[in-house]
Amino acid sequence: MEHRRYLKILFAVLVAFIAVNTLTSVAFSDSGHKHRHHGAHEHGAGKLQLILDGKKLDLVLTVPGADIVGFEYKAKSKEDKAKVEAAKDKLKDADSLVTVSSEGSCEFSEGKAEIKQDGAHNKWKISFHAECDTPSKVNELNVSAFLKAFPRIKRLKAEAVSDTKQFAGKISKKKSSVKLW
Ligand SMILES: [Zn+2]
Repeated sequence: MEHRRYLKILFAVLVAFIAVNTLTSVAFSDSGHKHRHHGAHEHGAGKLQLILDGKKLDLVLTVPGADIVGFEYKAKSKEDKAKVEAAKDKLKDADSLVTVSSEGSCEFSEGKAEIKQDGAHNKWKISFHAECDTPSKVNELNVSAFLKAFPRIKRLKAEAVSDTKQFAGKISKKKSSVKLW
């Protein structure tokens, strides 16, 4: 669908713009003591992307595994596997973790979590999908329950796009509800 492709391009441009800005600010700031491993993520920090395309709402959270289950190696022991399963179960219940403006009449389906292993580290890609009867009324996102369920996450870099609007901002425990547009 043309429209969907347009949104994807718009989103890619937005992401690229933010990436360039971030790189520039890192390059020009003397944040030498900030611990960052090569090409890796920062524990406690994640990413949130929301796309509202017509009535379809997609919310994707990318978070270090350490912030979800407390480790990032591939679960092998019975105990670690149980932790992974428990977290995946919790993430299925989208309604109990994230909410958007109630006037939008959005109905979330079951959340999904995918683990992307990269050596000693991994990331969890958590996807929530909703169908919204009144998408034009969707202008707020609240992830306080998600942050309470996974208290190791300190902040999320958030980006959102709709047919006509876009948003970029930060989400933290103190500011877990954001006005998108
Ligand atoms: Zn890590």
